[in-house]
Amino acid sequence: MQKEKRKQSKDEEDDSSSRKRRKADLSKPVSFISTAEPTGARFPSPSNCILIHFSHGDAQLQPYDKARNAVALALSPVVRALIDPDGALRDIRDLDSISFSDWFLSKGGTRMSIQRMWDPVAYALGFIDCDNISARCMLTIFSLFATKTEASLLRMLKGSPDVYLSGPIRKYIEDKGGRFHLRWGCRQILYDRSPDGEILVTGLATSKATDKKVVKADAYVVACDVPGIKRLLPSQWRESKFFDNIYELVGVPVVTVQLRYNGWVTELQDLERSRQLRQASGLDNLLYTPDADFSCFADLALTSPEDYYIEGQGSLLQCVLTPGDPYMSLTNDKIIERVSKQVLALFPSSQGLEVIWSSVVKIAQSLYREGPGKDPFRPDQKTPVKNFFLAGSYTKQDYIDSMEGATLSGRQASAYICDAGEELVALRKKVAAVESQESAKSNTVTDELSLV
Ligand SMILES: Cc1cc2nc3c(=O)[nH]c(=O)nc-3n(C[C@H](O)[C@H](O)[C@H](O)COP(=O)(O)OP(=O)(O)OC[C@H]3O[C@@H](n4cnc5c(N)ncnc54)[C@H](O)[C@@H]3O)c2cc1C
Repeated sequence: MQKEKRKQSKDEEDDSSSRKRRKADLSKPVSFISTAEPTGARFPSPSNCILIHFSHGDAQLQPYDKARNAVALALSPVVRALIDPDGALRDIRDLDSISFSDWFLSKGGTRMSIQRMWDPVAYALGFIDCDNISARCMLTIFSLFATKTEASLLRMLKGSPDVYLSGPIRKYIEDKGGRFHLRWGCRQILYDRSPDGEILVTGLATSKATDKKVVKADAYVVACDVPGIKRLLPSQWRESKFFDNIYELVGVPVVTVQLRYNGWVTELQDLERSRQLRQASGLDNLLYTPDADFSCFADLALTSPEDYYIEGQGSLLQCVLTPGDPYMSLTNDKIIERVSKQVLALFPSSQGLEVIWSSVVKIAQSLYREGPGKDPFRPDQKTPVKNFFLAGSYTKQDYIDSMEGATLSGRQASAYICDAGEELVALRKKVAAVESQESAKSNTVTDELSLV
């Protein structure tokens, strides 16, 4: 018993010290880097974008632009969100048809503020600039950051996402009896109509190389990206406006570049330290800049050292090129040349360091483009087909296309499925009846209740 108590108090201690550590993490500043201020500006503790705004404004903007920024923000629904979050969100949803630039300029903000400050934020949030992102998207996220303090953390994983993000999620699901069938692609949604004309999904045809399998379940959730769902939906379903709307959504191209150096690129204070390879050194943070084609970047060897720090090597810069369009047609060598030149312009003290390894990943359609007027086309997780549900961050949820958004969409889909419990049991009978009428039996192997 005493042993148990000791363990409990040790757990509580650990918990409280980890809470303290978490708090300490939150007080880590975000850094904005600009060619105008090549030493890099570190700002005090913004745990949310609103604070970033003020901190960044101090360093990047002239007093006139700062004053106009303050006026625009004071007139924004974000202020209302502090006292009436639901009312503010309603106001913000009404701003879906205009761009953030149009909204901001109409409230007295300046073009200079957009270029120096809001564009990098928009690029980081949605991979497009303020002229192309909807006011709804930007203001929603600011008001959520302002009001949901538990959700406004800016953190870097300590290692690779595979180990530190999806790894624990996968373990949780497997511990609860779920199964993953990785590299199995879903090729077709199989469906039929009941005698009263209702569409019912009867299975998902999946394949991996030459293997084929039909997955059967009581409820089907398809959690694709935008190009994936467009390919998968049966063309006949487009007769329904609900499904046809999805084809109005498009993805934004993005290019991610990684550059490994033989020294520490972001070590700005001590030239000698930047040239040694015994210890990591430099800006251990997520970095923003308005002065390069990558607005958002980080030295992963510092921020996520578990997997990215390599003894005897230096910085591993990861730069997300936004907009990605101008880079899509370039060769990898050309992209690396351009990006490394821009790195040097931001960090002149890295002159002489060499790129010893690099990687370029181009994604033709990544996040869905949160342009003005697009929100009404996002589908709800509950669809007109009663045993078929959607998830994925492009579906309707109040976060932007992000990991939080994807998570929220999954929670909403699961809530709908729980609500539909009884109905799903009835549908199972309907599907069985429809299937028994079918004379042609497929030869494929079936697998029930799996995750693909
Ligand atoms: C370079 C980059 C950096 C990012 N950084 C961040 C960040 O720091 N923080 C953050 O919150 N978000 C970030 N995001 C956004 C985040 O990755 C996405 O918002 C999130 O992954 C969306 O999750 P999802 O599950 O909706 O879609 P996805 O993660 O796109 O998953 C959909 C999956 O469905 C698969 N698929 C499609 N069709 C089929 C099919 N027929 N059969 C089987 N599988 C199929 C796709 O291959 C894909 O793996 C970043 C995105 C990019 C591109």
